[in-house]
Amino acid sequence: MILLGKEAEKTLRGLPIARSEYVKDSSHMVKLAKKFHFPLVLKIISEKAVHKTEIKGVRIVASEAELRKNYIEMAKIAKRLKGKIMAQEFIKGRELIIGIKKDPVFGHAIMFGIGGTMVELLHDVSFRICPITERDAESMINELKYKKLLDEFRGEKAVNIKLIKNILVKVSNLPARNRKISELDINPLIANDKVAKIVDARIMLG
Ligand code: ADP
Ligand code: MG
Repeated sequence: MILLGKEAEKTLRGLPIARSEYVKDSSHMVKLAKKFHFPLVLKIISEKAVHKTEIKGVRIVASEAELRKNYIEMAKIAKRLKGKIMAQEFIKGRELIIGIKKDPVFGHAIMFGIGGTMVELLHDVSFRICPITERDAESMINELKYKKLLDEFRGEKAVNIKLIKNILVKVSNLPARNRKISELDINPLIANDKVAKIVDARIMLG
């Protein structure tokens, strides 16, 4: 079984997740825009389209006019894919990835790396067996070749490493809490100097 969108949130309890809500209709959507403020993110959540960007299922909207236009377009796609539309708060920061995979020999392992569009190109990740300590988390971060991408950069403050370490430890404890987790994909976790929030998670159970 796969958990996407809000269905994944219960399994991630205790971790910082970007605020989000399923949109019931266009008037509900306008209400949600007042709650999340602009820019906000609209996403199509469907088991038929796990990679949302590929189906034009992720839109960042900056105004009510943009919101209405994109909502209409996305509602059509969502209908075809028997999916839902989710509104989410926009998080500014650097993109990171955290993964869990079950290995038949070693048990669950945790992966951490630089995320975003460059992720496949950089292929910069580190691994540990779950669960990990704060110290392990620190060495996972230090192992990254491009860890400088987390530092202060062109006026953007460095990402909050303390938060990242804390999140890595918590994620590494999830398999012990929920034995059904066979795979977990947080891509991305968006981090800045103040917050780090999960904006996209996929969980495989069984
Ligand atoms: P998918 O991986 O299924 O294509 P994501 O939810 O990961 O969809 O969104 C794709 C990209 O859109 C992210 O990597 C990120 O760059 C951007 N994005 C998604 N959600 C947010 C958000 N809440 N705040 C800021 N950027 C976001
Ligand atoms: Mg993603």
